[in-house]
Amino acid sequence: MSANPTILQSHNLKKYILETNVYPREAETLKELRNATASYPMGFMGTAPDAGQLMALLLKLLNAKKTLEVGVFTGYSLLLTALTIPNDGKIIAMDPDRKAYEMGLPFIKKAGVEHKIDFIESPALPGSNKESFDFAFVDADKDNYWNYHERLLKLVKIGGLIIYDNTLWGGSVVWAEEDVPAPKRKFRQAALAFNKAIADDSRVEISVVSIGDGFTICKRAH
Ligand code: SAM
Ligand code: CA
Repeated sequence: MSANPTILQSHNLKKYILETNVYPREAETLKELRNATASYPMGFMGTAPDAGQLMALLLKLLNAKKTLEVGVFTGYSLLLTALTIPNDGKIIAMDPDRKAYEMGLPFIKKAGVEHKIDFIESPALPGSNKESFDFAFVDADKDNYWNYHERLLKLVKIGGLIIYDNTLWGGSVVWAEEDVPAPKRKFRQAALAFNKAIADDSRVEISVVSIGDGFTICKRAH
């Protein structure tokens, strides 16, 4: 059973999806990275493999070549992206936590895709490279998602995609405030505000997908 967060309440159904359609098609190096991450501190932060499968499908549909990732951790979504984009594709990946990135690096090297990755050991907010990205994945500090959104709308091409992860925050977006454990409240409020704001944002076409911990998929419309 995956340790990654999921809002799907039926564990049997989750297990069924993973065992039938996700694990059999998951690259060996990704599987190894996922297993190694499970025993790493905060290992549950890795992207859920079923959500990763959707992300890979979208990257392929888009023919994405140049992507941006904010929030790398041990690199599950990074390796997945690197395995999916073409051999001359590029990912700019930002995270202040180099130690976690280096934990996953041997799996990236083993997969032969390190040359596609430009890891920047720094907190994001991306600055230059106007309108040059096909795709961006945001999985970092949740209370900055709207700041990322405003900047990414300048960095991602028209027609490009941005995926925001954890937008349903463990399902807590529909809980009463007093039922939410205190440490989760701040990011729950951030998710509520982000979800409301994105619904009103005519610059993007959106779909909120109840996979993993909630994916908000945005296509830049203009
Ligand atoms: N996408 C990753 C994966 O598939 O394993 C999981 C990312 S984890 C949920 C969140 C990461 O965001 C952490 O590694 C943390 O260091 C990073 N982070 C926090 N604040 C950040 C910031 N301002 N800029 C970039 N990364 C940040
Ligand atoms: Ca996440």
